[in-house]
Amino acid sequence: MAKKQFKAESKRLLEMMINSIYTQREIFLRELISNASDAIDKIYYKALTDDNLTFNKEDYYVKITADKASRTLTITDTGIGMTKEDLENNLGVIAKSGSLAFKSENEAKDGHNIIGQFGVGFYSAFMVADVVTVTSRALGSDEAFKWESEGAEGYTLTPAEKESIGTEIVLKIKENTEDDQYDEYLEEYRLRAIVKKYSDFIRYPIKMDVKTQRPKEDAENEFEEVQEEQTINSMVPIWRKNKGELTDADYENFYNEKRYGFDKPLKHIHVKADGAVVYNAILFIPENTPFDYYTKEYEKGLELYSNGVLIMDKCGDLLPDYFSFVKGMVDSEDLSLNISREMLQHDRQLTLIAKNIKNKVKGALQSMLKDERENYEKFFESFGRGLKFGVYNDYGMNKEDLQDLLLFTSSQEKKLVSLDEYVSRMPEDQKYIYYASGDSIDRIEKLPQTEMVLDKGYEILYFTDDVDEFAIKMLMKYKEKEFKSVSSGDLGIDSEADKQENEAEESDNKELFEAMGGLLAGKVKSVKASKRLKSHPVCLSTEGDVSIEMEKILKAMPNGQDIQADKVLEINTNHEVFTSLKALQGDQDKLKLYTNLLYNQALLIEGLPIADPVEFTNDICKIMV
Ligand code: ADP
Repeated sequence: MAKKQFKAESKRLLEMMINSIYTQREIFLRELISNASDAIDKIYYKALTDDNLTFNKEDYYVKITADKASRTLTITDTGIGMTKEDLENNLGVIAKSGSLAFKSENEAKDGHNIIGQFGVGFYSAFMVADVVTVTSRALGSDEAFKWESEGAEGYTLTPAEKESIGTEIVLKIKENTEDDQYDEYLEEYRLRAIVKKYSDFIRYPIKMDVKTQRPKEDAENEFEEVQEEQTINSMVPIWRKNKGELTDADYENFYNEKRYGFDKPLKHIHVKADGAVVYNAILFIPENTPFDYYTKEYEKGLELYSNGVLIMDKCGDLLPDYFSFVKGMVDSEDLSLNISREMLQHDRQLTLIAKNIKNKVKGALQSMLKDERENYEKFFESFGRGLKFGVYNDYGMNKEDLQDLLLFTSSQEKKLVSLDEYVSRMPEDQKYIYYASGDSIDRIEKLPQTEMVLDKGYEILYFTDDVDEFAIKMLMKYKEKEFKSVSSGDLGIDSEADKQENEAEESDNKELFEAMGGLLAGKVKSVKASKRLKSHPVCLSTEGDVSIEMEKILKAMPNGQDIQADKVLEINTNHEVFTSLKALQGDQDKLKLYTNLLYNQALLIEGLPIADPVEFTNDICKIMV
């Protein structure tokens, strides 16, 4: 029988997996038990809505059997099983839908990272086994199939015999080598310990034949060794336990076991609410951004249990979009088992729970910001962009909830600050919260518009995310302080004397500015003497609501809107270039040349395209000869 090949990227991943020096090989058992438990959940869930199916709890379990003689470890479950197609589709592909393509070559070389990002559940079996054989019969089918693989070389799929619904996985455990011991995975005490460590709270019995001593029937004080099937997990769900009984490691285990993520969560929140609504929840704030987090494919949600029974694996209504990174589960006695998705949306209990959860998460993030700054910054790095979208979306409805969770890079030491920190260290004479937008911090720092504000000793928030300025426009103010772009017309910095001086300058040079404005008609609203430039000769500022960065973003959107910022060309009247301009005295050709050059320079500084680059370089040549 010809071997079927794994899909190309699966093969690469599988090779990495097998060869990676994975320190915790024992987790393979957790992964397989977790799959088995999920498969039983699926039958359980089906039975809830299918009258033809009854769920007898006793019929559902996982069984682990070790056989030293044949070096096999068998994990059997009575779950929903897999059809031939399931076997092919689920076990023939590892990373789903091109996810590997997201990773750079370098990262891909490091197997750990890949495993960390996607978790390769079932395939972890190859860390301890030379051959993996999966025999499965799906619910509603009378045929069974056998999938067998020795690793990256591919797999075979053949018809098989199987009496009952469910899946049996046989691992042919590797031989010991000088460096690695595999025998332990055939030892009863070791298997027990692994189950206890990772899978204790699995809701179905995990059974194993264990040897125990039993008093001999016919002789007093004598014992005999017998094989006896025992349930080796306690089956008490972790969320029912008291917080005091649980360690950080327990929560982390639960997070990994449940496949909420493959990173180490930054924080867990264990809720035992018994007020207006009664529910238990364990919520996690992950550290890493899931690879699809900022795509349409990402689906938010928490597992929802009704009195210990899983009724939905991703209940989106429990989380607001801006907290869609939260992973975890909710168990409530107040929810009906048979509730449909549509009904859930209007369920009053669920709405109350969702509100409660939102506040818990907000509180946890706030306390993290206050007491665990480093972790909070890690969190913000991964998910901050979503919070900013949250401020902006729904017409700013949630801005009050979110504004204190935002961080921005500041001109001060280029560290992240919260708005509260910014405002509390503003000098007394500073009226506004200043910000500057650009593609990168490097670029922003070079913007001429920042000079005057920084020179005044004021701090500037650097906006490098496309959503930043939109979010701020929605906030408008923070603690009564308005936000002000360093490129906006009036910076609110000038004293009365400055203003008068400026007006005088405007009127002295009225003719020149008007002539330049005429030459740039349709491109800028006006040409003015700058109040903000110190060393640079020109810059663009804007009047009105749309900034230059916003213009760029709107233009780049898929159904791009050509919304223009109202631009003003500002000239530094203290610069030598201005002296040259004034000296032109009616030389129209030169004035046109200089005006165009200055305007194009200002565009370049803003990172805006020049309409005619050839003309621009020709113009430069003209002044060189
Ligand atoms: P994950 O569990 O993260 O989806 P796995 O590689 O562990 O990834 O499993 C892939 C898929 O194979 C599962 O999603 C499930 O559909 C199926 N599967 C694995 N083990 C079993 C099992 N014991 N019973 C039924 N289906 C299973």
